[in-house]
Amino acid sequence: MTNHEIKINFEEYTSITELSADDQHLCREAVKALANSHSPYSKFRVGAALQLQSGKILHASNQENVAYPSGLCAERVALFNWGANHPDDAIVTMAVTAKTDEFKLLKPVTSCGACLQVMAECEKMQGKPLRVILYCIDGPVWIVDGVQSFLPFLFFEDRLIH
Ligand SMILES: [Zn+2]
Repeated sequence: MTNHEIKINFEEYTSITELSADDQHLCREAVKALANSHSPYSKFRVGAALQLQSGKILHASNQENVAYPSGLCAERVALFNWGANHPDDAIVTMAVTAKTDEFKLLKPVTSCGACLQVMAECEKMQGKPLRVILYCIDGPVWIVDGVQSFLPFLFFEDRLIH
């Protein structure tokens, strides 16, 4: 028997003001995206902003539906939009934030497993690390330099990609 230990690395900042101007801007774009969240059931808004290599920024938010499983997280709305419309313009950084009137968020929202899996495939598709900023409004910021830090045992099989 061999025992393995996996460690992940991420940066933590106590405030958005510690980030570069570009990263602060992208976080604010994710906050703007909250406005179009359709979340009448959870009342939990999530916004995402993708900074592409060309400088273009894509916005997305969570979209719920009365038939609950039909909704989709902000991250996947953003990434599928990217894949459908801008697949040749690599994603440099993705910023994600959240807001609810039900309680105060004290730490950054982290993405669900399904979104991490989709992030991982987008990262593989573009052949470059996808930097992710998780931004808690008026709170800390966590940054990873690649999705594998979040999902070390992600499912991927090169032989399935043609
Ligand atoms: Zn998700």
